[in-house]
Amino acid sequence: MPHYDYDLFVIGGGSGGVRAARVSAALGKRVAIAEEYRFGGTCVIRGCVPKKLFVYASQFSEHFEDAAGFGWTVPDASFDWPTLIANKDTEIARLERIYQTGVENAGGATFHSRAVLLDRHTIRLVAENRTVTADQIVIATGARPNPHAALPGHEHCIFSNEAFHLAELPRAIVIAGGGYIAVEFANIFHGLGVEVTLIYRGREILSSFDEDLRRGLHQAMEKKGIRILCHSMFERIEKRSDGRLNAHVSGGVVLEADQVMLALGRIPNTEKLGLAAARVETGKLGEIFVDDYSRTSVDNIWALGDVTNRVQLTPVAIHEAMCFVETAFKGNPTKPDHETIPTAVFSQPEIGTVGLSEEAAGRKFSDLEVYRAVFRPMRNVLSGRDEKMMMKLVVDAATRVVVGAHILGPDAGEMAQLLGIAVKARLTKEDFDRTMAVHPTAAEELVTMYKPNYRVVNGERADSEDARRV
Ligand SMILES: Cc1cc2nc3c(=O)[nH]c(=O)nc-3n(C[C@H](O)[C@H](O)[C@H](O)COP(=O)(O)OP(=O)(O)OC[C@H]3O[C@@H](n4cnc5c(N)ncnc54)[C@H](O)[C@@H]3O)c2cc1C
Repeated sequence: MPHYDYDLFVIGGGSGGVRAARVSAALGKRVAIAEEYRFGGTCVIRGCVPKKLFVYASQFSEHFEDAAGFGWTVPDASFDWPTLIANKDTEIARLERIYQTGVENAGGATFHSRAVLLDRHTIRLVAENRTVTADQIVIATGARPNPHAALPGHEHCIFSNEAFHLAELPRAIVIAGGGYIAVEFANIFHGLGVEVTLIYRGREILSSFDEDLRRGLHQAMEKKGIRILCHSMFERIEKRSDGRLNAHVSGGVVLEADQVMLALGRIPNTEKLGLAAARVETGKLGEIFVDDYSRTSVDNIWALGDVTNRVQLTPVAIHEAMCFVETAFKGNPTKPDHETIPTAVFSQPEIGTVGLSEEAAGRKFSDLEVYRAVFRPMRNVLSGRDEKMMMKLVVDAATRVVVGAHILGPDAGEMAQLLGIAVKARLTKEDFDRTMAVHPTAAEELVTMYKPNYRVVNGERADSEDARRV
């Protein structure tokens, strides 16, 4: 058997790569990992974690407003953007160290270097100007924002990466995109006092989410003062002599802003990675093709996480890494399970969702019962906040299984984690019904919606009379 420097070499020190390296090293494998930017990857350095810290920061404006109804007098509050950035950076640096030392403490070697494949067993460490060899290779290089290079003036725009390091908070921002990153940043900036316009070329934000969530969030955001233009796209971005930007939008609309942010999807990081030299096959977007076990077209090279463009979420990358370890090193071939992934949108109000949307369930099942509650959460009553909460269960009438659960409102993400267990376990509506409510909570609605609001038969919504006869 040929001798290699390592049993496993991982390219990319993000969520998936670090997990694969750390767990493999802990098994006693000779492991190395290369990261060209910062250990922790997108999630820790410029994704989930700093984003959530920004979400918390942006929520204080509403908390201060709401406090009055509970008897508090809050003096005029002011916000300091540099303080938030500095505190966020301190926390990110702490996590970065944990990610790197986690691999090292497990016995793995870490390199601060770009890594490039020379062939199926040889990796070039660019910063060290040397090569190493490995028996197995994992590519976990993630993805980056779509630069939208065809847009005239795209060079004046920022992406989510830059949004975490702006020298100053803009007075006005225009954000393009309808996915969760665009929506979350629209809410973050609005909460921090920025004038926000969100433009999206589609019919409604958050495509593929349940229609009630999409419409409900859209309305709630507009009510707060976020301007949303659907069926709209940028034609060009112009830098003005005063340093501000004019965003020319379809239909002759011109939006003035200090920053224009593009959140138009993410492209797998596979450029100049040596994939052709190693004969690893990729798709149109550059995504690496893998089989059900995350194995590429070359049998000792694996790819996981965002670079495969399957489901671009941190827990998915981590799960794929754990499955890789089972398959490659524990003699237990394990396919990643991408079914029924609970997820959240950290908008304001928040979205928590798992399973099929009503629309998707209507295409799959011939008879659905839909249970839906819209109510004002208790904490909004004394504060006088006129924001409603929505909860919805989609039930396959034939089997009684809850196939989708959707929440719009405070703490929806936290609830989605627990609902995810119930929906993944294919629990029935009767299981929900015989679960005792926790009172007083908003979540108790999930186990106290006794009558369906309507049915969906062969994809068509039946009226409420029919529903009452159920
Ligand atoms: C703004 C934003 C918010 C997000 N919020 C959430 C959220 O709330 N919840 C959630 O689940 N997901 C969220 N995500 C998605 C999540 O961050 C990704 O799905 C996750 O980080 C993917 O992990 P990964 O290991 O595939 O890649 P990454 O974490 O991107 O790691 C890839 C690493 O590889 C490095 N690299 C690339 N090429 C090379 C090379 N040739 N040599 C060496 N190193 C290389 C990169 O520098 C990077 O550090 C968010 C993403 C963004 C952008």
